[in-house]
Amino acid sequence: MESARENLERYLEIEDILNRFFGLFDFCLKGCVLPELERNGNQPFAACCKDRYYKVYDLEHPSFDLLREKRESLYGTPEDVTDSSLISPCEYHTSTGCVLSTCKSPICLAFMCRKSIDALRDGYGIYTYDYLGFNYALEWILTGDMSLAEYEEFRQSCLDMIDTVETTSAVAG
Ligand code: SF4
Ligand code: SF4
Repeated sequence: MESARENLERYLEIEDILNRFFGLFDFCLKGCVLPELERNGNQPFAACCKDRYYKVYDLEHPSFDLLREKRESLYGTPEDVTDSSLISPCEYHTSTGCVLSTCKSPICLAFMCRKSIDALRDGYGIYTYDYLGFNYALEWILTGDMSLAEYEEFRQSCLDMIDTVETTSAVAG
């Protein structure tokens, strides 16, 4: 059994890879946030952050405690966030979106809505992204229920998605 700290290190490595993937895919800003701001006259909106997801789905587990401690050391406690947007119940949601560039909870990191999943399928031919499956995989990394071999396979599948997005974008010019 790996230690809670080792589990967290693996989780943060996958978060870094997924952040690269989402950065390349870039659907939330272009396909959701900007069109909605144009439609509503630049009024801030909560998009999919409609609860304190960093809290409601997290498990009672030492690795989750470590994740929260690292998050709060970098971004403050939820109560410390002075510019919460109030349009979302989540304190980490400000007028420019989520302040957590890293150390998100599994559900926050994994979530993709239906229209973003459709864009991934239609734009890049990636059919393997199942957000609940990714959420559970991220939870298992944190709890240590994912073996090292499974972790390496999962990590590679995330890197493969990056390759697919990059290759498709390069072909499209
Ligand atoms: S996941 Fe969906 S609802 Fe949430 S910001 Fe992205 S496109 Fe918008
Ligand atoms: S922590 Fe960030 S991603 Fe999660 S619900 Fe709050 S604002 Fe949304």
